[in-house]
Amino acid sequence: MNSFLDRILKKVYPERCPYCDRVIECGLPYCEDCAADFPEELPRFFTPGGFPCRAVFYYEGGYAGAVKRLKFGGVKAVGSQLAVPLAKLIRGYEFNFDVVTSVPMFEKRRRERGFNHAEVIASATAEILGSEYDNLLVKTKDNKPQHTLGGLSQRRANVKNVYKAPDKEKIKGKSILLIDDIFTTGCTIGECARVLSKAGAARVCCAVVCVRKPS
Ligand SMILES: [Zn+2]
Repeated sequence: MNSFLDRILKKVYPERCPYCDRVIECGLPYCEDCAADFPEELPRFFTPGGFPCRAVFYYEGGYAGAVKRLKFGGVKAVGSQLAVPLAKLIRGYEFNFDVVTSVPMFEKRRRERGFNHAEVIASATAEILGSEYDNLLVKTKDNKPQHTLGGLSQRRANVKNVYKAPDKEKIKGKSILLIDDIFTTGCTIGECARVLSKAGAARVCCAVVCVRKPS
């Protein structure tokens, strides 16, 4: 659409590169400079519980900034911008999945933020890939944010029995791609993958935008 109003709106709300915050042409997912700096493919890794996972970026610099803009800055459009490099990564994933899903938020928290950032990224990614998207999990407990917890054992305990699969029929026998924004210790995404697997998924693979850089 290129109506007069559309052009005015684009002037009032110019789109920005999610990684460097520079104004870019409307409809582009990032600026050329940032695209030229994108890292080579990162090594594959596993979640706790042994589910394979891949990430586009290390959680640093402009990549961490982009996730923060989406999550804490409330800039929902960043989710669709982050979906572009994520979809590109997943295209190279030797995994044929039936459905894409995301790590859910507790409903009250989702309402406070206005959206679930992981769902925004995952549904936009599914759209680019021409895949089905469905919210297969719910978060039943308003636990403490993982980043406020220190040790791995505390983080593991904090996510236990927090996620449920309300409709197992949608999961049984399916190959599922589970998406989240960041992977720190992987306790959250690992627990979600475990719940999907326990609900009868044939296979669960994970993908995130950012993973913590190994020290
Ligand atoms: Zn940029």
